[in-house]
Amino acid sequence: MTALLEVTELKKHFPIRGGFFGGTTGHVYAVDGISFHIERGETLALVGESGCGKSTVGKAILRLFDITAGQVVLDGKRIDDMTAATLRPLRRRVQVVFQDPFSSLNPRMRVRDILAEPIRNFGLARDARDLEERVAKLMDTVRLPRDAVNRWPHEFSGGQRQRIGIARALAAEPDLIVCDEAVSALDVSVKAQIVNLLQDLQQELGLALLFISHDLAIVEHMTHRVAVMYLGKIVEVAPKRSLFAAPKHPYTEALLSAVPVPMPGAQRERIILRGDVPSPINPPKGCRFHTRCPYVFDRCRTEEPKLAAPRTAMAPGHVAACHLHDRPDSENPLAVAKGE
Ligand code: SF4
Ligand code: MG
Repeated sequence: MTALLEVTELKKHFPIRGGFFGGTTGHVYAVDGISFHIERGETLALVGESGCGKSTVGKAILRLFDITAGQVVLDGKRIDDMTAATLRPLRRRVQVVFQDPFSSLNPRMRVRDILAEPIRNFGLARDARDLEERVAKLMDTVRLPRDAVNRWPHEFSGGQRQRIGIARALAAEPDLIVCDEAVSALDVSVKAQIVNLLQDLQQELGLALLFISHDLAIVEHMTHRVAVMYLGKIVEVAPKRSLFAAPKHPYTEALLSAVPVPMPGAQRERIILRGDVPSPINPPKGCRFHTRCPYVFDRCRTEEPKLAAPRTAMAPGHVAACHLHDRPDSENPLAVAKGE
């Protein structure tokens, strides 16, 4: 069976306007040739620091803009080049939950109308009674009281609003939900509740999730697989356990070193990367991470590494883009899991 979502060599370059004649003076290479897939019912976490291009990937999948190059295939159908009219019936199948539950809900609409809108737009209800019933069921699904549909967004807490945001996404009966930093703005305890809710819903409804986050500690509780982005590229993809136990890209290793370990005395050694993330307007040649990598060697500065399965990966499906894995294990600091 084909994957639910198959993204191939996706590029999104934003032109920079300016200059004397107002022409294009350069490009922001926000997403620069990335490939991944999501299976039905699967969560893929897309992680990386802000500005790495992960939200742009989410928007490309939602078809919020035209992409520069590549393909986005949903359930066997190519959607990146579809016209708005052809895309319409497919739009329903990919929905989004945004980061900020305070600005993503229309303050002038009651919850009932917020939830009824997508049901109407996609023509999902048979009649007024069915519409009302669907709205009530959505409230049950996100564990909010049915009579709260008469209230306004400002009457709810942040966590409750995010539940409404999730209910609105579910109203369209999607196969895939893009969660763009969906829990990042919430307090720690509320975060855990929303993560649990998303996990329950995934099981109940067989949903697939693209969970975009900069927070690896949350991702660890949430996902099946992880894709790590750096400066417009995916540098590593792996099943969660394999990635957390034995990362095969130096950038992932550094990100993980900052995640607190719950066991006392089991603290990972924190790796502080030098310098800042370079500009996506003028990304470094060769490996894009070479200006900050603690293991950089000559080849990294000229030749771009491709995603490939390292010999020493713990699980199938674990790929990383790093020249270290072409070296003998004795010269590869990521050949074995640290502490083994
Ligand atoms: Fe570091 Fe070189 Fe691997 Fe890039 S290819 S991550 S610079 S070791
Ligand atoms: Mg973002």
